[in-house]
Amino acid sequence: MRLIDREAGGQPERVTSGDPVAMSGRGHGGVGPPSGFRVAVVAARQLTPTVHAIEVGKPATFGFRAIQFTFLQVRTEVGLDARPMSLATSPTRPHLEYAARTSDSPFKRAFVALRPGDEVGVFGPIGDFVLDETRPAVLVAGGIGITPLKGMAEYAADLALPIPIRLIYSNRSEDEVAYRDELATLENHNHRFRVLHTLTGAPGPGWPGTVGRIDDHLLQQAAFDLEEPVHYVSGTPGFVVSVWRLLRAAGIAAEDIRVEAFRGYASAGVGP
Ligand SMILES: Cc1cc2nc3c(=O)[nH]c(=O)nc-3n(C[C@H](O)[C@H](O)[C@H](O)COP(=O)(O)OP(=O)(O)OC[C@H]3O[C@@H](n4cnc5c(N)ncnc54)[C@H](O)[C@@H]3O)c2cc1C
Repeated sequence: MRLIDREAGGQPERVTSGDPVAMSGRGHGGVGPPSGFRVAVVAARQLTPTVHAIEVGKPATFGFRAIQFTFLQVRTEVGLDARPMSLATSPTRPHLEYAARTSDSPFKRAFVALRPGDEVGVFGPIGDFVLDETRPAVLVAGGIGITPLKGMAEYAADLALPIPIRLIYSNRSEDEVAYRDELATLENHNHRFRVLHTLTGAPGPGWPGTVGRIDDHLLQQAAFDLEEPVHYVSGTPGFVVSVWRLLRAAGIAAEDIRVEAFRGYASAGVGP
């Protein structure tokens, strides 16, 4: 991982003033209707060869639930443009964060070029892909779909939620595992949180996870000691549909599966 620029090194600071529960938007507190605002980028970094992340300022009045999405607007060479983007960090953290898989679109080129001090537009929060704080959780991420799930894991750790959480995280190759260090840190801070990595490509020596596509066996392994977990699935539409089918075939009720499909990505060729 290469740090391009960052306001402060290490882990993001915790929110230290105010009521973290109200500020986090736990329940519905602190979350108003969607609104639009412009904020400055405070940090930008390359997470993997094809994933780039930015942190932007968070207005004191902005709350969101763990983890909704917003529209992110940037100035491109062909004018202002916006994409729906999941928030990639917990509402308990001081900044907003976004991570995107890079492409040759004007939007992505402008996203990657953002530097501290540049302005972006944010409209949100939107969506109901939100952690149920009362039930065990199985998070299933395909590639860039990690963004809202990493935010959920941060949220659970920051608020010491008493629910077990398992994350199945599938990537094509080891160097494409975004947020690997951050997830390991969360595992250390929250003994109820565990990550199961899987690679669809060939692993290097010492790979700590499994190899192959997410299958019934891996889903069962993640959930084996959990009582009536909710499954949260995030990634490209093709990824989300295939995991949804596996879960339904395994007898998981539709109301116990929540999905965030990153529409805009083709079903094939972009996922893990
Ligand atoms: C709720 C939600 C959350 C999301 N969160 C994230 C996130 O956290 N991170 C992230 O990276 N993405 C996220 N996305 C996806 C994101 O909004 C973009 O759609 C995605 O990143 C692709 O943007 P792009 O600029 O690279 O591609 P675009 O240029 O917007 O292309 C989008 C699609 O249109 C096709 N296309 C483009 N131009 C043409 C053309 N001329 N002719 C035919 N087809 C064309 C492309 O092949 C592609 O399939 C999310 C989407 C949703 C709905």
